Amino acid sequence: MFPIPSSILRALRAAVRRHLLPWFAKNARDLPWRAEPRPPYAVWISEIMLQQTRVDTVVPYFRRFLARFPDPASLAAAPLQDVLKLWEGLGYYSRARQIHKAAKILVRDHGGRLPSDPEALAALPGLGPYATAAIASFAFGLPLAVLDGNVIRVFSRLLALPDDVGLPATKKKLQQLADALLLRDRPAATNEAWMELGALVCTPRNPRCSECPLRRACRAAKTPNPEAFPHKKKKMKVPHKVVGAAVILNAKNQILVAQRNPEKGMLAGLWEFPGGKIAEGETMPQCIARELKEEMGLDIEVGPHLVTVHHAYSHFTIELHAHFARIRSGRPRHLECAGHAWTTRDRFGDFPFSKADHEIIRALRDLPAAPRLRDCFPPDGIRKTAP
Ligand code: SF4
Repeated sequence: MFPIPSSILRALRAAVRRHLLPWFAKNARDLPWRAEPRPPYAVWISEIMLQQTRVDTVVPYFRRFLARFPDPASLAAAPLQDVLKLWEGLGYYSRARQIHKAAKILVRDHGGRLPSDPEALAALPGLGPYATAAIASFAFGLPLAVLDGNVIRVFSRLLALPDDVGLPATKKKLQQLADALLLRDRPAATNEAWMELGALVCTPRNPRCSECPLRRACRAAKTPNPEAFPHKKKKMKVPHKVVGAAVILNAKNQILVAQRNPEKGMLAGLWEFPGGKIAEGETMPQCIARELKEEMGLDIEVGPHLVTVHHAYSHFTIELHAHFARIRSGRPRHLECAGHAWTTRDRFGDFPFSKADHEIIRALRDLPAAPRLRDCFPPDGIRKTAP
């Protein structure tokens, strides 16, 4: 397929100008980050939020974020915890940590503004080739072509591409195609039009070829099943992890929460109900007791089950079993966590938690009354009321 014959390239370029851009002008969604003028800061935040995340999900987060942090200076001055709190539920929390870091760099090195130089942009934390091209073209009108999942899908269908789009070599060639099809006089519109076509018409399932402005130029549309493109090697089965978490109550019926290390690992800096992954041959109470020993130096008694949460991350799924627990001996230490706090079910909003931990919070709030130590661990061993 590559190199693409120049006659096909010419036809595609003509179709972009004649059909794709007019279609985009008519059908572009009215999104808050597209409002003119488009401050580079708003473009940056929206592009980071939109990575791996649906537009509908991002809109309210984007509005809240811009209202709270209207510029790099306000973002840089905020504690990371406040940034994570606003990001809560959006997932991929490393993005929040990176924009916080990047905002500090903008204030320190760039006068509190996004640089227009693509090299300086690419040097900021969290900006890969896609985000750099998107910001450079949308915010500064520079002729850099973007290649995201939507664009890859549209291109592979236009060409009925037999190559595996998961391979770096194929991506490199598709990037060259995007570069060749970019209209230098309208780089932002060309980029956004491809992305919008992929999001609204050339969708992963059931592409709407009859409404597509490029149907005449499209090779996949002439096949019985355009949806068969792009070709991609099947993914390996995602691993499944079984995890335990402790909802530890103290004598004041407060609940212990721990902060994950803010410097490393998934969900870094978020708060959680402490626990961890089950080891081979362990029961769930044994797992939770061992994890609390390792993580916080606590000797605990594990009590009644509260809830089991199922959650899917991008590379694995988890089954999280939350149990009530109480401390037999020891004080919380930060052996494998960054901090701890005793709180109540009405004050969980003070901390940023992951989605899975929010399910535990929901289960606690669904209880008829706040859980009490003596109900979970009655002196006579017989629980008389629901914890
Ligand atoms: S004609 Fe169909 S398959 Fe081809 S680009 Fe348009 S929507 Fe996608």
